[in-house]
Amino acid sequence: MNIVWFKRDLRIYDHEPLNNAIKSGPTLALYILEHELWQQPDMSRRHYRFLQDCLNDLEQDLKTINLKLTIRVGDAIEVFKNLSSEFNIRAIFSHQETWNMWTYDRDIRVSRYLRAQNILWNEYQNNGIFRRLKSRDGWASKWHQYMGSDQVPAPNSSLGINALSERLPTASQLKLDGSVSEDMQTGGRTNALKTMNSFFEGRGQKYSKEMSSPVSAYNSCSRISPYIAFGCVSIREIYQDAQKFKTKVFERSNQKDPWRMSIRSFLSRLRWHCHFIQKLEDQPNIENENLHSAMNGIREPEFNENFFNAWRVGRTGYPFVDACMRALDATGWINFRMRAMLVSFASNHLWLHWQKPALHLANMFIDYEPGIHYPQIQMQSGTTGINAIRIYNPIKQGLDQDPTGVFIRTWVPEISHLPIPALHTPWDSKKPPTSYPEPIVDEVTARKSANQRLYALRNSEEFKAKASAIAKKHASRKPNSERARRSKKINTKKQIELF
Ligand SMILES: Cc1cc2nc3c(=O)[nH]c(=O)nc-3n(C[C@H](O)[C@H](O)[C@H](O)COP(=O)(O)OP(=O)(O)OC[C@H]3O[C@@H](n4cnc5c(N)ncnc54)[C@H](O)[C@@H]3O)c2cc1C
Repeated sequence: MNIVWFKRDLRIYDHEPLNNAIKSGPTLALYILEHELWQQPDMSRRHYRFLQDCLNDLEQDLKTINLKLTIRVGDAIEVFKNLSSEFNIRAIFSHQETWNMWTYDRDIRVSRYLRAQNILWNEYQNNGIFRRLKSRDGWASKWHQYMGSDQVPAPNSSLGINALSERLPTASQLKLDGSVSEDMQTGGRTNALKTMNSFFEGRGQKYSKEMSSPVSAYNSCSRISPYIAFGCVSIREIYQDAQKFKTKVFERSNQKDPWRMSIRSFLSRLRWHCHFIQKLEDQPNIENENLHSAMNGIREPEFNENFFNAWRVGRTGYPFVDACMRALDATGWINFRMRAMLVSFASNHLWLHWQKPALHLANMFIDYEPGIHYPQIQMQSGTTGINAIRIYNPIKQGLDQDPTGVFIRTWVPEISHLPIPALHTPWDSKKPPTSYPEPIVDEVTARKSANQRLYALRNSEEFKAKASAIAKKHASRKPNSERARRSKKINTKKQIELF
């Protein structure tokens, strides 16, 4: 018999391994709850709750094609050993996984074991990420080709194999930390499709204008990220739906319709998703090491646990930073710009090495996806060496993105009585509230100091040589004219290069 090993691809639609396994014979649908994976420091209770929802939905969908979901708890090799003693396993079918360092090492172990047992492991491409890529040249056309290719329909039925299924441990049995609340997104394909439909049916119309402010982003962004992270939908499915929608928008609407810009921006971001994960696929140590080695050692000796804790619990004394952290804690999501600001504040104003902040945010984000997370964290911390340095001024961000103060008042009730602009700078008010902390650092001094230290490193020829090697390996290739325009912009205005 064949085994379909579900990992972060919890769906039956556009699932090539499932389809091919069923075509080639009797099939067992397997999910392995790997204890050791869930003990890793980037995993949290909110991820586990989302996973349980996804597995419930997957189980229902599998039933419709005569497959029962078998859950086994333990180490993957032990699970395969046990199944081998019960069944004659011909092949394992799964998607290629680009996830954290633990899953990378596990795949190496599993692959050795299966080879030694003469069990075939058929791995299929997942989304637009390419294994053993020799060069980034031509990546975008490969990506477009894949996204335009036919989706794999869900199988009609199967010759399903039944095996004993174990109960999932509880989050407490797994000793998972963190809170879960009603305000967090719930998992599963049904919810994924509802979320996507409501975006196209209206929520997303002002996406490109409203994505930057946390006041509007919760509604105007697609919020599809956790469903992609757990594989309830494939990027190809979303991309093709968005393309169809874009055609309709351009047929029916006039130049002024904000959907025109919004749907284009949305489509580009689907490409960014894979572009970032490709970086981790090509260089797995991005999870643990600075991309540019000149950054090694610059922040580590000064790591200040008090600063880190204040940032982590939303008590830095900067209301907009604290509001974002508290909103993230309560909901499991915050928009891109605010993620960037939170990291920039930790790495630059507080001069913290990115590793602990990255793990904290990984625990908080329900959509945690290492391949996006670590390259983004490094980009916002200035450690890639190839992106322009952007240090967000949290006061300006607050005034720009929350001009009426509604977001700060919701999440930092201690200062909700303050008028604008004192709400953004409570230390300026005549009677600063005693229950809210003083600013943890002086904003201007801290920002200037980080800026100087980071730019000072960039002057040497050695730095530049290493940076060009990194750009050659990881940067996206743009048409020449576009690249020239962008690099000019980056040099003069110090704007961030997105990829
Ligand atoms: C420090 C930092 C850490 C991040 N960590 C993660 C993470 O762990 N998981 C994650 O999915 N995203 C991460 N992002 C990227 C981005 O913030 C989220 O993808 C986005 O906010 C998810 O919300 P959405 O689905 O409504 O996005 P939308 O704006 O509706 O975009 C649609 C999809 O495009 C992709 N996308 C959007 N923006 C980006 C981007 N900048 N880079 C790569 N892909 C993007 C995502 O798959 C997203 O679901 C991070 C960004 C930063 C700055």
